[in-house]
This record gives sequence, C-alpha cells and structure tokens, in this order.
Amino acid sequence: EHYIRQIEDQNPKVNAYVDTDFDAARTRAEEVQKKIDNGTSGKLAGVVMGIKDVISERGKKLTCASKMLESFESVYDATVIERLKNEDAILIGRLNMDEFAMGSANEYSNFGPVKNPHDPTKVPGGSSGGSAAAVAADMAMVTLGSDTGGSIRQPASYCGVVGLKPTYGRVSRYGLVAFASSFDCIGPLAHSVEDAARVLEVIAGFDEMDNTSSQIEKEDYVYAAQNPRKNIKIGVPDEFFGEGLDEEIKTGVNKVLEDLEADGAELVPVKLPHTKYGIATYYVLATAEASSNLARYDGIRYGHRADKDEMLDELKKEEKALKEQFEIAEGDAKVEIQEKLAKLDTPLIRLYKKSRTEGFGDEVKRRIMLGTYVLSAGYYDAYYGKAQKVRRLIQDDYKEAFKNVDVIVSPTAPTTAFELGSKQDDPIQMYLNDVYTISANLAGICGISVPVGTHSNGLPYGIQFVADSFQETKILNAGRLVE
Ligand code: GLN
Repeated sequence: EHYIRQIEDQNPKVNAYVDTDFDAARTRAEEVQKKIDNGTSGKLAGVVMGIKDVISERGKKLTCASKMLESFESVYDATVIERLKNEDAILIGRLNMDEFAMGSANEYSNFGPVKNPHDPTKVPGGSSGGSAAAVAADMAMVTLGSDTGGSIRQPASYCGVVGLKPTYGRVSRYGLVAFASSFDCIGPLAHSVEDAARVLEVIAGFDEMDNTSSQIEKEDYVYAAQNPRKNIKIGVPDEFFGEGLDEEIKTGVNKVLEDLEADGAELVPVKLPHTKYGIATYYVLATAEASSNLARYDGIRYGHRADKDEMLDELKKEEKALKEQFEIAEGDAKVEIQEKLAKLDTPLIRLYKKSRTEGFGDEVKRRIMLGTYVLSAGYYDAYYGKAQKVRRLIQDDYKEAFKNVDVIVSPTAPTTAFELGSKQDDPIQMYLNDVYTISANLAGICGISVPVGTHSNGLPYGIQFVADSFQETKILNAGRLVE
C-alpha cells in the first residue's frame, strides 16, 4: 500500500512508470503474506519491484517505450522475471526508458521524458531512467534495468541510487529485448549495495535459454555486501580523472579515495590507454548490432503496422503521377521516369518502410542508419572490423590492470544530471556522457555505481567500481565501503 500511494503521488510528476497493475500486486501480496505466515516464503518475499519495459513479463505490455511495440504483450516470462517470481517478489509495474534502451537522458521515450526526482528540470539519466527515478522517489524498493553502454550506472549516479551491471553472461538475457546482443546486461537498481546484492543473488546464474549464459558458479553476493574487506587494492586510472570531469565531482571522489586509503585500502595507479577510444568503438559496434536486431520489426511479424489502405492509396497516386509525367516527357527525362516507375516499391516493401518510418523515433532511426552503414560492403573493414579489434585492446587493458588490483575506480559520469532537453539536438554531446561507463561493456566486465556525494547544485553523483569478469563480490565489497 505504501508503494501504491507513492506511485499515485509521485508518478504524475516523475513519469517513471508507464504501466502499473495495483490489483495484481495486491493479490500477489496477499499470497506472499500467506507464505510468510506458514514459513514457506522465498528470498524476496514482499519486495516491491518495478521492471524496465524492455524485459518480458507474461501478460504485460512490452513496449520498449516505442510506438513500434505500443500494443505488444509478452507471451512468456524472461528468466529473470521467473526467478524473481519464484522468490516471491511483487512486481508492481513497468518502467519508462529511452526507446529500445538507446539514450542517456530518458528523453527518447514514446511516453514522454522521465524527470529527475531531485529536480524536475533535470534528466534522470538513461536509458534506465525510469528504473533509477522509481527507486529515488521511493516508488519501488528495487528495480531492474538494462545496461548496454552504461544505462544502469549512469542513471543511478544522476538519481542518487545504487546501480549494478553484472558481468556479461552472469545474468540471463532470455526475455530481454535485444539492443546490442554482445553488450546487453540486466541488473538491479536499489537503495543500498546490500539490496542490489540480494536481487543479484536471485537473478544470476546459468540459464540454458541464453547461449551466452555462463556456467561459472555464482558467489555469495549478500555475504560480500555485508562483510566488506577494507584492505582492498584499488586501481586509479589517470584516464578517468582528466579533461571534462566536473571539478567538484573530482574533488569528492578523491576525498572518498583518501578515506578508503586511511581505512586500509591500497591505491595503485593503473593504465587504461585504449579507453579513450571507448565511445567511438561502442557507437560503431552497438549500432551495428542494433541495426541487425531491429530488422525484425517489420510490421508483419512484430510491431506497428502502417495503415494498409492509406499505403496502397499513396502508392497508386505515385504510380499515376509518374505515368502522367511519362506521357508528356521526352528524351532523357522519359528514361528517368521510366526508371523511377520500375523502381517503385512493391506494396510489401512500402508497408515495411512506412511501418518503420512511423514506428521508430529519430534516435532509433539514427542508430539503424549508422549501424547499416558500418556493416555495409566497402566500409565493414574500416569501421566494424576495426572497432572489433579496438574492443579487444580495451579488454586487454583491463586484463592487464586486474593483474595488480581488485577493482578500478572512477567517477560514474563526468557531470551531475543535466537540464532536460539541453542535449537532445546534439547526439554527440549525449554520447559523451557515457565516457566512464561504456568501456566496462566493451570489456564485458562488471561495475557498480554508488552515490557518494551531493554537488553544490543540489544533485547527487556516484562513484564507480569495476572488477574483472565474474568478480561481482569485489564491486559489492568496494561499494559497501563507500556507502
Ligand atoms: N547511452 C548508451 C546508448 O545510448 C547506453 C545505452 C544502454 O546502456 N542501454 O547506447
């Protein structure tokens, strides 16, 4: 009842939820209460959660905040949802996001932007902006988000909550709508490191339905969050404390590091020389994968379908106009018109074009065009092939650094939450926000953002710890030390 009241009160201002089902949540709460009473309840009994609208929940809408999937309903539960349900979590609603998880401000949503609960004139970050804002405004205890290039950690930093991106392959992607399949990860956003650990414990682990799911045993995440070691080795990369970083955030993060050192941690300088290519590399590879993944929305098998009669009408009119021109044209012009007539779309192709034109927003279209470009013959080696090689170099940088340290630290984002609308027309500026978070996705390693301060502008900011693959206990440990 508390969370229902919070949602009724806060959501009209924040716009974090795009759909809620209070009746179902109440019924579920009663069932769980019975289980609690007779001692058979699961690990997340009574934990009220919201789910990013990119993860399938049977019988619920799955829109990805896109007009393309406006009326699509999930026919099965994602593995993470099945696991949450088995442990008696209460799923209360679906959370707003950037369309198809593409963005860093949650402004590219068919449902309108999410507002930062700390200041409604600011963005909450993205793409899991709804997931971060819902926790920050106490509209859920924990939420699930997805992180392809920073989308859990960056909004966590902007909204002052904890956000954890697991190692690629640690949490099943089965039932997560694909954006960039070699990057996509599901993870929790929470009020505390321990809460994040409790959810991770439930959702992590091998799943035969995801062929990139790892067989490596999971560790005791809750224990790690409850019993942090103080004498850890923390790598400090120069590359992440340089130009573009807000001075106050830099000072704040350095102060946290001094405190950690005073408490027994060892600070070790590390080098990550290729991370400066992270953003460029990511935006080549992620758009390439996206262009392929999003080809399925053809308005035939999935997604928004343009009005057929209107489309046929349009096509007929074009044909008629061309034929009329042909009649009166002469010479070269006649040949040109003839060529146009020959190239006129078939009805099926036109339906596909029109459906996608209407169904996708501008940012998604931009990504599809970029992605198809870098994959096209003649450019593939120069862009896609090259980016794959740089991705390997970035992975190698981390591998080398982790030989000497437990975790690597950085600010989560270079600034606090920015003004709504201020970067919407400048995609490059928007992409630059991901500078500290994106290389963990390229390397496939795990990372956490934990709030550590409030800027003089009144907004929160986070610190990020990343650790090698399947070393989630190390980021939970470090995260807990700075809480
Ligand atoms: N900002 C990044 C992008 O737009 C992150 C997306 C994500 O992690 N889902 O691609």
